[in-house]
Amino acid sequence: MNQRAVATVNLAAIRHNLAQVRRYAPNSCVMGAVKADAYGHGAVPVARTLEAAGIDALAVACMQEAQQLREAHIRAPIALLEGILSAEEATLAAYEGLQIVVNDFWQIELLERMPQGATLQVWFKLDSGMHRLGFPLSAVPKLRQVLQRNRSWRFCGWMTHLARADEPEVSATVEQIEAFDITLAGIAGARSIANSAGLLAWQQARRDWVRPGLMLYGASPLPGKTGRALGLRPALTLTSRLIAIREYPAGSAIGYGASYRCPETMKIGVAAVGYADGIPRSLASGAPVQVAGRPATIAGRVSMDMITLDLRAAPQARIGDEVVLWGEHAPAEIVAEHAGTLAYELFCGLTNRVQFEYVDPAA
Ligand SMILES: *Cc1c(COP(=O)(O)O)cnc(C)c1O
Repeated sequence: MNQRAVATVNLAAIRHNLAQVRRYAPNSCVMGAVKADAYGHGAVPVARTLEAAGIDALAVACMQEAQQLREAHIRAPIALLEGILSAEEATLAAYEGLQIVVNDFWQIELLERMPQGATLQVWFKLDSGMHRLGFPLSAVPKLRQVLQRNRSWRFCGWMTHLARADEPEVSATVEQIEAFDITLAGIAGARSIANSAGLLAWQQARRDWVRPGLMLYGASPLPGKTGRALGLRPALTLTSRLIAIREYPAGSAIGYGASYRCPETMKIGVAAVGYADGIPRSLASGAPVQVAGRPATIAGRVSMDMITLDLRAAPQARIGDEVVLWGEHAPAEIVAEHAGTLAYELFCGLTNRVQFEYVDPAA
């Protein structure tokens, strides 16, 4: 009751979401994305949960994130999605047994300069249309020569990433998949195409490996669909407490810049959470929250340590009542829309002032 901003992470929900991934892609191995501190959920507890549930591999962005998991004794295969950035990282990747997602020839040069005998595990990432990382498709013959002259490398497979998988009506995804398939026709090696949106919306993207991130945390990457509608359970619930309730007459201006004016005499509540905790300042008046289980809305600007709330729909609210910002019954996707952003950014934006609590009701 004394904590002001609390993120409660339900590890059973993460296990449930992994089971849903397996239901969507029953013939695929699962590489779960736990980069960015497991999308703000806590890399080590999430990775432990996924490992115990038998996930096939984990994926992180960079060496620092991989080392954090190895230091916590996570033994599952871990892929470095941006590959290695230096000779030191190449050595560390071999030592820690990491899978390196190689996306450029300069990284191959670093790897080929490693002392003989180091066991390197490599994916090759191809650019099938995203135009961010990856080899052009025309590089595939050269990449096959690289594999031929480095027989000690363990080749994990061919990877690509979809740019518009969350838009079921556009043809870009089909074009990317076709280009990837045509380029690799008859060539050996596992294939991996789909992130969460790819594996949810495009059956033909569910290949040897799927790489879900967001959906493991229970949020939907597909516009107009919540995680719940897709059979997922939001894993993180962000709560705060009411620390003030005041009644103001019609016309009163609330907060910085007087961006909200009370349309009638009404109660305004103050919750002890703000942009320094990770509530986007762009979250506009009218965005939904819950106060003691009743709907309420943001009224006025988000400030550093507090938000102000229209309590007209929660007339019984009292000091100390719980305020839910997003979570199990308040989809982060919907809150994100009110802030002009995505659930991804809400999750990653939580700061270290938020107190994290882990629950595992099913364990
Ligand atoms: C982050 C990431 C994923 C996971 O994406 P989601 O949209 O969170 O499912 C998959 N593949 C790559 C290469 C990534 O960088």
